[in-house]
Amino acid sequence: MRQKYVAGFLTLMMMAVFVLSACGSESSKGEEKAVENAGAAKKNQVVNVFTARHYDIDFALFDEFEKQTGIVVNEIKGTAEELVERMKREGESSEADLFITVDGGVLNYAKENGVLQPIKSDVINGNVPAKFRDKDNNWVGVATRARIIAYAKDRVKPEQLSTYEALTEEQWKGKVLVRTSGNLYNQSLVASMIALNGEAQTEQWAKGIAGNLARDPEGGDRDQAKAVVAGLGDLAIMNTYYVGQMLNSKDAEEVKVAQNIGIFFPNQSTTGTHLNISGIGLAAHAKNKENAIKLIEYMTGKEAQEKLINSSFEFPVNEKAEVPALHKEWGEFKTQELDYAKLNEFNKKATELMNKADWK
Ligand code: FE
Repeated sequence: MRQKYVAGFLTLMMMAVFVLSACGSESSKGEEKAVENAGAAKKNQVVNVFTARHYDIDFALFDEFEKQTGIVVNEIKGTAEELVERMKREGESSEADLFITVDGGVLNYAKENGVLQPIKSDVINGNVPAKFRDKDNNWVGVATRARIIAYAKDRVKPEQLSTYEALTEEQWKGKVLVRTSGNLYNQSLVASMIALNGEAQTEQWAKGIAGNLARDPEGGDRDQAKAVVAGLGDLAIMNTYYVGQMLNSKDAEEVKVAQNIGIFFPNQSTTGTHLNISGIGLAAHAKNKENAIKLIEYMTGKEAQEKLINSSFEFPVNEKAEVPALHKEWGEFKTQELDYAKLNEFNKKATELMNKADWK
């Protein structure tokens, strides 16, 4: 019994020696493999993009960048909140190199959550004016959009329009169309007004808008334009790029809608039209920092900017980029001068204020 035990013990020892030596040889093979992988990684460079902006043109530009540089762009899609949460939760082990989203407030939300870091690149600073970059360079703008007043060409003369504030006048009772308070574009517009006019005045304004609505808020920006052309109301608060996208739509109905609305840039003699921004932030724990910066340099370069704007109909951040004929037709306009951080700072207040005003 005891002998059997000893023999068993010896067998175990021998097995252990065998396993150890096997491990030894495995380990040197493993090292060889690691070296091989490092070589392959150099050949197959990557950049991981966490994006809340799911525009076809963004993905087409990533493909173009991939072709030009050999750097593979991996897209990880989600809502901005989901992506920021994930970057926070995963901390140093996060695979995110870049964070892309619409809305200057959301870009600052990411910054304040500590998931971004300063971008250092003379190329980017040359491509994008300081007003379209975070003051600590945690994010850089890639395109802008104006929230404007679209009007029924057959019923409204642009001379009747002036400011966002004037949309609360008696003459527009039952004529104004706009989406809900849950919509970020509206939240940022109202946040900008809190920053410029103060809370009390903005609360009064929101009440005035709610009182002049043609219907309970519903649908997206395009739906407001459609409702204007259908005669439900005369004026719609909407983003400029939808007009460009509808004019170039495969849907004949959308083209017709866009042809029948006029575009008015409000507040030209006062605080300027509300201009929001889409941008790219450099992830705090980016493992492919060089590649990430290269992709921002590409996205803000003249060539990519022109391709982007000709598809999304946003405005370029790079002043060297040639704008589409439609933008030339719209002409230059005065914009709000506002730190985009204010859109984040006043986001909650803006939503509360709209709900209180019954603009739901
Ligand atoms: Fe949109």
